[in-house]
Amino acid sequence: MNIPRSSFPRIVIIGGGFGGIALAQRLSRKEVQVVLLDKNNYHCFQPLLYQVSTGGLEPDSIAYPLRKVLIGYDNFFFRLAEVLEIEPENKLLNTSIGTLSYDYLVVATGSETNFYGNTELEQNGMAMKTIPQSLNLRSLILENFEQALLTDDYHERDALMNFVIVGGGPTGVELAGALAEIKKGILPKDYPDLDTRRATINLIQSGDRILNAMSGQASKKAEDFLEKLGVQVWKGVRVTGYDGKTVTTRTDLTFESATLVWAAGVKGATVAGLDVKELLTTGSRLAVNEFNQVVGYPEIFAIGDVACMQTDERPNGHPMMAQPAIQQGRQLGENLVRLIEKKPLKPFDYTDKGSMATVGRNKAVCDLEHLKFQGVFAWFVWMFVHLFFLIGFRNRVVVFVNWVYNYIKFDREARLIIRPYKRDYSQFKD
Ligand SMILES: Cc1cc2nc3c(=O)[nH]c(=O)nc-3n(C[C@H](O)[C@H](O)[C@H](O)COP(=O)(O)OP(=O)(O)OC[C@H]3O[C@@H](n4cnc5c(N)ncnc54)[C@H](O)[C@@H]3O)c2cc1C
Repeated sequence: MNIPRSSFPRIVIIGGGFGGIALAQRLSRKEVQVVLLDKNNYHCFQPLLYQVSTGGLEPDSIAYPLRKVLIGYDNFFFRLAEVLEIEPENKLLNTSIGTLSYDYLVVATGSETNFYGNTELEQNGMAMKTIPQSLNLRSLILENFEQALLTDDYHERDALMNFVIVGGGPTGVELAGALAEIKKGILPKDYPDLDTRRATINLIQSGDRILNAMSGQASKKAEDFLEKLGVQVWKGVRVTGYDGKTVTTRTDLTFESATLVWAAGVKGATVAGLDVKELLTTGSRLAVNEFNQVVGYPEIFAIGDVACMQTDERPNGHPMMAQPAIQQGRQLGENLVRLIEKKPLKPFDYTDKGSMATVGRNKAVCDLEHLKFQGVFAWFVWMFVHLFFLIGFRNRVVVFVNWVYNYIKFDREARLIIRPYKRDYSQFKD
């Protein structure tokens, strides 16, 4: 990989997500050599992916070049590489661009969509975990309406304009709300010769309430907001399959739909080479101790979504969200320096800053430690927090300007099919 050996210990970080960047920033100006590896050359701000899928934001405004994050740091190297395997016995990584040795390794690879082994859902459903996937979804949504214009068969047209979102967590709720707003504010103008009132948005949740990681108050209010926007919320319904045309559930309930978005689960994006049978815990995440050290591997650490730190208080580990990843990255930065200086490590202590989700214009729900609130104020708080955590001054400005424009004009200008999504529509012609 052409990275010179230095007299400092080499720390290799796999993944420039929330955790990896926070860690890299903490290690700047320390007596270590840091190599950051990522299969993309950008950091992706996943909480706003649904806005890319629904034409509210351009993808560039939620991505940030990883090389720019590291500008001005001494002893830092970035390589665009996918890590294929870890050889812990040799302290070596096999990657798409060659091998690399490490003194300390940090796995910060995040998570990937979990279809729970259902290959039919995986092949025909849409995931929304990366920028390319969000662009695919954006194209598909728009292509469905273009296709709906071409038929005079009501049944076929309804199926093309019927959207099924599986998973009532923040991603599902936010996407459903955004689609409902498009239906109301944009479709009638864009498609005056199509009866877009017949478009339907179904949000399906297997549990008995949406946003089940938030308070009952937040769940109830979010459901009210969605219903006001015209979203059909199905609770206690478990989706079992989707052949590209019909969504089946455990009961007789079925949906004819050209679009199924799977937002019902994630699992740790682990890298081959570790003794996974011993290590994997809930959600296919790597078991780590209170110092984020992977159990059984003293020189390997894991942070963020891929790590599961089980405690009495949190038997399933920390929530797979940005805050635990950022806080673990920062803490590990300090601990790695302490480890090198042969000082005792400090255990990780998570500060829960609360959670929030937006449903649409002026509609959000916020659960803070001592305060729960919903509505317009929650929506402003949601926007402020997302702008604050977005990386890069330009991105903040662009997102802010887009939001103001969209708010004033009731518009979403990025409704463009730049990269057509290849969808076989022939099955809807039956
Ligand atoms: C649609 C969506 C909405 C979300 N909304 C919210 C929200 O509102 N609030 C919130 O707190 N959280 C939200 N999350 C969750 C949040 O984004 C994650 O918890 C967070 O990104 C985890 O950070 P991380 O550093 O562990 O991993 P990530 O940020 O996912 O970064 C992982 C990095 O590792 C790289 N990588 C993976 N495997 C390899 C490999 N083998 N080789 C090289 N590189 C690799 C990836 O390219 C990526 O850059 C959302 C997630 C999604 C998908």
